[in-house]
Formats: sequence, C-alpha cells, structure tokens
Amino acid sequence: MSNKRVFYFYNPEVGNFHYGPAHPMKPHRLSVIHSLVLNYGLYNKMQIYRPYRASAHDMCRFHHDEYIEFLQRVTPQNLTTYSKYLNHFNVGEDCPVFEGLYDFCSMYTGASLDGAMKLNKNCCDIAINWSGGLHHAKKFEASGFCYVNDIVIAILELLKYHPRVLYIDIDVHHGDGVQEAFYLTDRVMTVSFHKYGNWFFPGTGDMYEIGADLGRYYSVNVPLKEGIDDFSYSQVFKPVIQHVMDLYQPTAIVLQCGADSLNGDRLGCFNLSTKGHGECVKFIKDLNVPLLTVGGGGYTLRNVARCWTYETSLLIDEEISNIIPEHEYRDYFAPDFLLHPEVVTRQDNANSKQYLELIVKHTYDNLKMVQHSPSVQIQNVPGDALPTEEMNAIALDETDPDVRQPQIELDRRVDAANEFYDDDKDQDFDETR
Ligand SMILES: [Zn+2]
Repeated sequence: MSNKRVFYFYNPEVGNFHYGPAHPMKPHRLSVIHSLVLNYGLYNKMQIYRPYRASAHDMCRFHHDEYIEFLQRVTPQNLTTYSKYLNHFNVGEDCPVFEGLYDFCSMYTGASLDGAMKLNKNCCDIAINWSGGLHHAKKFEASGFCYVNDIVIAILELLKYHPRVLYIDIDVHHGDGVQEAFYLTDRVMTVSFHKYGNWFFPGTGDMYEIGADLGRYYSVNVPLKEGIDDFSYSQVFKPVIQHVMDLYQPTAIVLQCGADSLNGDRLGCFNLSTKGHGECVKFIKDLNVPLLTVGGGGYTLRNVARCWTYETSLLIDEEISNIIPEHEYRDYFAPDFLLHPEVVTRQDNANSKQYLELIVKHTYDNLKMVQHSPSVQIQNVPGDALPTEEMNAIALDETDPDVRQPQIELDRRVDAANEFYDDDKDQDFDETR
C-alpha cells in the first residue's frame, strides 16, 4: 500500500550538540541527513514538523526524578559539584557531560513522543525521528551514549491507545534499555537482532532472555555473530518478524533503525549494505501497522546519512537517484558520491546456515508459547502528553517549539490504575522508590 501519511520530526538545533572531539557519537549526522533529505526533494511527500520538546515530567514517566534532575543541572563547568553523582548515574566517559546535554535529550525525546502522539490521534501512518532511538538508557542511569530512553517514553504514550506494541531493533547492539523496561509485560513485545558474544556491548541479549512473569515469551532475542551480510540477515529477519506478526498482532510498531549494523561502521562488525538495511525497514512498512521509526547507533557518519536518507525515501515510496545531490556536505561522500557505495567486506560472515536456522527455530519454539494476541481492557485512558490545541500549534515555523505544558494540563492528567507508570503498582521497572 502506498500513499501513507508520513510525518517527519526534525529540530534544526539537534545537530549542533557535541559529545566531545574524540567521541564516536556525532549529533552532526542529523544535520547532514536533513540536508540530504531536503536536497533529494523528499519533503514533497511528507510533512515536516519541528517537534515538541520533552519536559522533565515527560522523562520521569520512565526515569527516576533524581536522575533527570541531575541531567538538568549538571554542566561541563560545574562537574566537580556533581562529581559524586557521576559514577552513580554512569555519566563520564561513554556518556559524557557536554554543553546543552539536557536540551539535547529534551529535543530527541520530544520528537519521539510527538510521533507517538500523532500516531495515537491517527494524524499519520508513519512518524520518523532520526534523532531518537537511544535504546540503552536505563531508568536510573545513562548507558552506551544514551541518557534518556525516548523509545520507552514513546511506547508508554502508544500504550494509552494501543493494546499491543511491537518494538523491533536492528541496531548492531542489543536493545537492552527497552527490553528491560517491558520485561514483565505482555503489552509490549521487544524483538532485537544484534551482535552477541565476546563481550560485545552491552553484553546482554542471548537467546534465553525471553521475558518474565506476564512478559515471559514477550522478549525475543536474535543473537548474531560478526560479519552477517544482507542475505543471511533477511533469512532471519523476515521469518521471525512474520511469525511475531501472525501471533502477536501488534496495533503499533516502533522500529529502531540503528545504522551501526552497516558494513564499515566505526564500532559495528556487521556487513549490511544500505539496501540490505533498508530492506528491513521496507518489510516493516509494508506490514501496514502504525509505525514510529527512530534512529539509534551509527558511527561512520557518511554511511548513517546515506542509510537514513534512503530509508526516508522507502517510507514515502519515492525512488531516489544513486548520485548524491549537490548540498552543503557533499564532500563527505567523496570519492564516489553514491548513495549505495560498494560494500567492502572487512569481516567474514561467521553465521553459518545451520546456526541461523537454529536461532529461527528457537524463536519459533518460544513464540508457540505466546498467548494468541493478548488483549487488554483499557479503562480510564490517561490524558495525552500534550493537549490537542498544543499539538496543532507546533507545526514547523509556526510557534515557539519550547512551549511547556501548562501546570493545569499536567494536573488534569489521570494515570489509570492498571497502567505501567502508576508508581504504586509499578512492577515493570524493578524499582523500590
Ligand atoms: Zn548501536
């Protein structure tokens, strides 16, 4: 089915943040992708929004308030004042304190949340936020370049309207933060395809992590070895996802499109081409379920830009040229200036046919245990994170994107007793406050 209504969320400031000179995570990639998206003319077939910015209140729907307060206050200048908290919140080397850290979190999280709200209101069929997808962030701490888990917060928003949400993660790293958040529930199924073994970060995600309690069999892990290519990946990805769809029948999907699973990534070790990576995105799009697509890892800048530009074109069903158009960052794509450069294999595919078949079979066996599309009675649907008038008012260039929710609206919100973020009954986030 084509002609999907696609909303693309982009804050022009989000590419201006710097984790530090030697740090592999470069928010600048977001500016490059946006420039490519515009210069390929992709804005014609989707609506571009300057997204809402998440408040501390929004972030605290998942994260602990002390952690969020720390993120709000800490700066490179007052680090010594907060030195005793750095270890506690795992902030330092991998997750450094940089200028504007909280603003950065607020922008990428707000964009995912905005996407979820637009999907809930049936304003669009697909919402895109390449600045989001920070899947490692935990309730109490930063992890793997991630501070606030925009994915968990967006899924909590989707759960107000959707009985079952499917989360799919094609980053080279395990989607541990999202899995952990929903480990005990059957209302979210998490499916992560990732490199596992030899202490590859974050070290979790073996095939025996399947969820617990009500969530038993609702965490699906597909551990892969280095060097996997397009063909092998699709041999695993498509049957597993099709099986999940048939059994779980989600009413919304969140797809984390981490581009560090591409060939030649600075940190990754897979051998996917942009076409092979995009094939997964197209496969999910063609399932015709409301879809939030977010970014994630991706540390060879030019390849991330190629990948997410190409995937934007796939999501709007627009064919684009293999020749990178004239734009301000064109030099990055020298010497070939191609959208789909040749894949230069650095690593042999360590995934044998037998190994891949074994994993698919293991996944099928576990999925047999899934109760056919569990239903939930949603009573007392909590209020939307944003009142509707405000949602309408934040289209790009229209008004102040930094507008916060009036206290009266925050007060009006009622959290349903049977929902996840009800502090007293919350068992999903293994926390004792
Ligand atoms: Zn990653």
